[in-house]
Amino acid sequence: MPKALITGISGQDGSYLAESLLEDGFEVHGIVRRTSLEMQETKLSRIANVLDQLTLHPCSLESQTGLFEIVRTIKPDYLYHLGAQSFVSYGFEGEYATLDTNLGSTHALLSAVLKFAPHCRFYFASSSETFGNAESSPQNESTPFNPRTVYGVSKLAGFHLSKAFRENKEIHSCAGILYNHESPRRGKEYVTQKIISQAVAIHRGQAKEIRLGNLEARRDWGHAKDYVSAMRKITESEIPDDFVVASGHAHLVRDFCEKAFSLLDLNFDEFFKADPRFFRSSEKTPLCGDASKIKRLLDWSPTHDLDSIIEEMLDCEMARTSNELSR
Ligand code: GDP
Repeated sequence: MPKALITGISGQDGSYLAESLLEDGFEVHGIVRRTSLEMQETKLSRIANVLDQLTLHPCSLESQTGLFEIVRTIKPDYLYHLGAQSFVSYGFEGEYATLDTNLGSTHALLSAVLKFAPHCRFYFASSSETFGNAESSPQNESTPFNPRTVYGVSKLAGFHLSKAFRENKEIHSCAGILYNHESPRRGKEYVTQKIISQAVAIHRGQAKEIRLGNLEARRDWGHAKDYVSAMRKITESEIPDDFVVASGHAHLVRDFCEKAFSLLDLNFDEFFKADPRFFRSSEKTPLCGDASKIKRLLDWSPTHDLDSIIEEMLDCEMARTSNELSR
């Protein structure tokens, strides 16, 4: 039975990945913070339905010796490094923690793989934030990187570390440069889940307005399940390489809002209030990915479009809140 180790297993992508690997007979290990084990109901809710099939190891991504020890003990066949300090700060708050944690954990895990499990296939979760203020759109694997945030810088450094271990140490190390990907498991700090939960609250008479920033911003949104299937194709390919994973369509935040509200028979403009707190200072180039390489070489293609993602997110939020109401 192949062994997989996942950092960030309790997040949106980690939870879908764990389910997908379990279905295929993998032995699945995950790294979680000790506090998450103590607060399972809130912190491990996304993996609650498979918890009894997982082996969880308490360790923070800041503890490089802890990460080393876990890799030494498990000797995984696959290591998916999805965990990170993910707050995309435009004001450079938390920049030390973001750089130290993201770069330090990636370096420790790659070094541990080299030392204790050199056969292991390593996946690094890079991000469209590495393109930042991109010179052109759509972006592909040849587009120059130009990160605009410390988070983007950390994801670019991780990308290059993973490439260096592949090219110089012959580790089967790959990176997915993933564009935004959403699902009912998305956190409310992201605009998609904020729109969905507020639309449902308005529909239920529990809220009167929705406060947002720039509605003219564009994002290339896909479904997290499709992007997890891309991660697996990337690591399971014989030739290690890096790939852009994207839908190829950039939609306005406004389009997302109008669609979600109209599905609940609400007129978005009646409830929208512009709020300067949610505007960002630099959003020049719309990020939109060109995923032709992964489509061509690994036969990946997305199975969800934005309308179906919005519908699924709304259905789940309606079900979740109606359970809450009936309690
Ligand atoms: P990310 O910035 O790509 O990590 O994803 P988000 O979901 O946080 O933001 C997507 C886009 O929505 C950005 O261009 C934001 O400027 C825009 N946006 C507009 N209003 C809001 C808001 O109230 N919250 C968030 N998070 N984003 C907003």
